[in-house]
Amino acid sequence: MALLKEYYRPQSVQEAVQLLARQDVRLTPLAGGSQLVGQLETRAVKDVDGVVDLGHLGLDFVEMAGDHLRIGATTTLTDLMEHPVAGQLADGLLRRTGRYEGPVNLRNMATVGGLVATAEPDSELYAALLALGATVIWSDGASQESIPLGEWSGTGRGPGLIVEVHLPILELRGGHARVARTPSDRCIVAAVAVVGQAGERVALCGVAPRPILADQPLDPPDDFKGSAEYRRQMAQLLTERALQEARQ
Ligand SMILES: Cc1cc2nc3c(=O)[nH]c(=O)nc-3n(C[C@H](O)[C@H](O)[C@H](O)COP(=O)(O)OP(=O)(O)OC[C@H]3O[C@@H](n4cnc5c(N)ncnc54)[C@H](O)[C@@H]3O)c2cc1C
Repeated sequence: MALLKEYYRPQSVQEAVQLLARQDVRLTPLAGGSQLVGQLETRAVKDVDGVVDLGHLGLDFVEMAGDHLRIGATTTLTDLMEHPVAGQLADGLLRRTGRYEGPVNLRNMATVGGLVATAEPDSELYAALLALGATVIWSDGASQESIPLGEWSGTGRGPGLIVEVHLPILELRGGHARVARTPSDRCIVAAVAVVGQAGERVALCGVAPRPILADQPLDPPDDFKGSAEYRRQMAQLLTERALQEARQ
């Protein structure tokens, strides 16, 4: 078991950030726990004395706000995928890519904020959020900052929380192409494309330490799943396939 000494369940974002800012104890946010709990139990994460549970901050919502969707950070991946508007964007891209984010019981726990915070390199759902033009809303407890997901690095901001993710509601066509060892395995490389009146946008995963927009430099790993050269070639091929589907 993890050796946690402290557990907090604040009722407001401000209270949560105050806890995270404490100097006398090392606290970290706990959202769905799908990744963090295992990391604490196996001691993969050691420099933590306790957790700040985000479950009672009122951030579990998906709301229409004019020309965009506001997605609260503790919304589960399942609720995002099943939302009648979010789930239909760009030919259902969030539904299509989300089904590769672990099994359904994990998607019922894992949250949108956790997905953005962990930025797993092979997350196709994160790539779909990038392609759809998502914006991250970060709170330091007193004020909020909007950061395009494509510019979000997650580090160097001091104590704070991802509180929302915003998605523009646009008429878009979507395309998705992937290679994996088996059809249901996590991808080696994948491309997600959207095409609309403002142009085309493609996001890739499996070719950098985190999912990226395709106009950024590739920095592919070289591992047992695929060499760096293989991943570069797949990125090109899958970009073409995803765009071709979205343009149809
Ligand atoms: C079996 C298994 C399969 C998985 N498969 C996938 C997969 O296919 N694709 C994938 O992308 N991931 C996968 N993961 C990793 C993980 O489940 C996801 O990244 C998930 O989205 C994490 O969300 P969570 O809400 O459970 O986060 P937690 O586990 O609660 O937290 C993860 C990290 O994010 C931080 N965090 C959470 N919420 C916030 C917030 N609002 N603001 C700031 N920091 C925050 C936490 O402090 C912690 O460091 C898998 C994990 C497991 C155990």
